[in-house]
Amino acid sequence: MNFFAKSALAASLFCTMLAGSAPAYSEELPRVLILATGGTIAGVAKENSATGYDAGKIKAEDLVNAVPQISKLANCDVEQFCNIASQDMTCDLWVRLSKRVNDALTKQHYDGVVITHGSDTMEETAFFLENTVERDNPVVFVGSMRPATAISPDGPANLYYAVKIASAPESHNRGVLVTMCGNIFESRDIYKSNINSLDPYSSRYNGPVGRVDEGAVRYYSAPIYGERPYWGLPADAVLPKVDIVHAYAGYDGDSIDAAVEHGARGIVIAGVGNGNMSKECIEAVKRAVSKGVKVVRSSRVVSGFVHRNHEVSDDELGTLASYDLSPEHARILLQLLIYHLDNGPRQNYQLDLQKCFENGYFVKH
Ligand code: GLU
Repeated sequence: MNFFAKSALAASLFCTMLAGSAPAYSEELPRVLILATGGTIAGVAKENSATGYDAGKIKAEDLVNAVPQISKLANCDVEQFCNIASQDMTCDLWVRLSKRVNDALTKQHYDGVVITHGSDTMEETAFFLENTVERDNPVVFVGSMRPATAISPDGPANLYYAVKIASAPESHNRGVLVTMCGNIFESRDIYKSNINSLDPYSSRYNGPVGRVDEGAVRYYSAPIYGERPYWGLPADAVLPKVDIVHAYAGYDGDSIDAAVEHGARGIVIAGVGNGNMSKECIEAVKRAVSKGVKVVRSSRVVSGFVHRNHEVSDDELGTLASYDLSPEHARILLQLLIYHLDNGPRQNYQLDLQKCFENGYFVKH
């Protein structure tokens, strides 16, 4: 760790000492589990670099100790789940994280869970948990855009607000939430829309669902997706390989054939416009479908709905339409659906895959 990193940590630990040692447990306050996975919020400056830094370096406990004010909001326990940059997040880690959060809520009866995470793939991990966590207690993702050793890091305030959201009764029954810079988003329609801004996320449809500040946690509306999705997974679940291919003018569909060759069980096409694709690409889709590969038409366009049988005939091709899901979110849902078709206790049940994309939740049966 370089000089700046050491001084920043020393300063934060000094603040902790000023604020007093480990805060006493308070019966009045909710119990919140903080799971740290890495990202910029745990990042430190690279040696001899003005702007570079390494994500996922600072330990969970030090992150939380740097914000002693949190102890006024909740009784927090802290765990280092992993310490990585989120571009290295994997499906196996998703399955383990989902199990850890389910256990925290259903067996250990935490009132809420906060997960610190790199901002690059936070929208994916949050949506995975949205579909696989059973309880309606708040699960709140948070990160930062500046590393902990920056002149004015945004991580400590973001973390404080995430604990505030996870502790608020208003946050129940809203599914998995994401907060940065005071905005609160639902996981289903969030995407990273800016590489550098301290406020890097946008909603594909409805805007942030709420705001948090020093005063309160405020939601603008009731939850919009009604019944929450939930699909439990065993701790040793191995998710099927589902790839995303990106369409553009002149795209010939070669990467669809390559994905099938490399063992993809499903393919999501980030198509042009309303999930459209060239004639050559359609031929590649036909070849994939004929081999039993599930193909979802999504769109590279940020918002709007990919409808069934609009320009491309899904009925003829045997494809699915993603509706409002981004390619990344459609991939996660398709992985869960294929997993269920392969392994679910309800193997004989005719799962209406298209409805799962339309409704945003698994069909009850
Ligand atoms: N690429 C890193 C990550 O996603 C840093 C980006 C961030 O956390 O904001 O973990």
